[in-house]
Amino acid sequence: MNYHILTLFPEMILQGLSTSIIGRAVEKGIIKVNAVNIRDYSRSRHRQVDDYPYGGGAGMVMQPGPVCDSYRALCEELGKKPRVLYMTPQGQVFSQKIAQELAKEEDLVFLCGHYEGIDERALSLIVTDYLSVGDYVLTGGELPAMVMIDCISRLVPGVLNNDESCQIESFHDNLLEYPQYTRPEVYEGLKVPEVLLSGHHKNIDIWRRQESIKRTLERRPDLLEQAVLSKKEQEFLEQILRERACAEENIVIE
Ligand code: SAM
Repeated sequence: MNYHILTLFPEMILQGLSTSIIGRAVEKGIIKVNAVNIRDYSRSRHRQVDDYPYGGGAGMVMQPGPVCDSYRALCEELGKKPRVLYMTPQGQVFSQKIAQELAKEEDLVFLCGHYEGIDERALSLIVTDYLSVGDYVLTGGELPAMVMIDCISRLVPGVLNNDESCQIESFHDNLLEYPQYTRPEVYEGLKVPEVLLSGHHKNIDIWRRQESIKRTLERRPDLLEQAVLSKKEQEFLEQILRERACAEENIVIE
């Protein structure tokens, strides 16, 4: 997987993606991170890349020329036109599902805005996807790009080793992951659940699935609508819901 990041702050990207699992994948050549400095494509004497907004208003807007020129130079170098993901709070909110779809691409371009954003004409000329990390506004697109690159890279074969497998994690089957425990067996009086010490793999699997269902119901009930549950798991969920309803009724009666 080759990531090309069009940014005014390439050093931020290169530093941010040089450590831990992603850094190791870069070192091994499984993923490539190519940070392109948009400022290198400025045609002004002072390497200017932004200007005042037409119509007035606060802040500066990134000019279309350097953005489009940096993308076109990249396409020429690659001999193809990869998808261009513009990082914007106005985009579709990024998700595991989108990450899975993007992980199938060979090259991806991340376009990072700054200041008040990028001139609309550049966006209409080169952007294929508008993506957001959430309903809040950041100062630039670099952190969102790094979040997405981290998430997509975990799905690229060879990036995670077996110990770090991403097969059963939160959002798998639209459920959150079950609680995890490690040594010591007792910590500040709190014991690891007995079943995890039993060595009985089938029971452990059942317990984990049930904990996932309970946790999703507590923390992200919206996910459950699309969850992939067996008949037994569906019955388990209905039982919890019945118990909950009874508990609530009792509170009202008291
Ligand atoms: N004026 C823009 C608006 O209201 O939509 C916000 C500009 S923001 C201050 C500057 C840049 O940060 C954006 O161009 C975008 O690249 C990035 N950015 C900010 N919040 C983001 C988010 N939630 N998701 C993705 N990118 C974001």
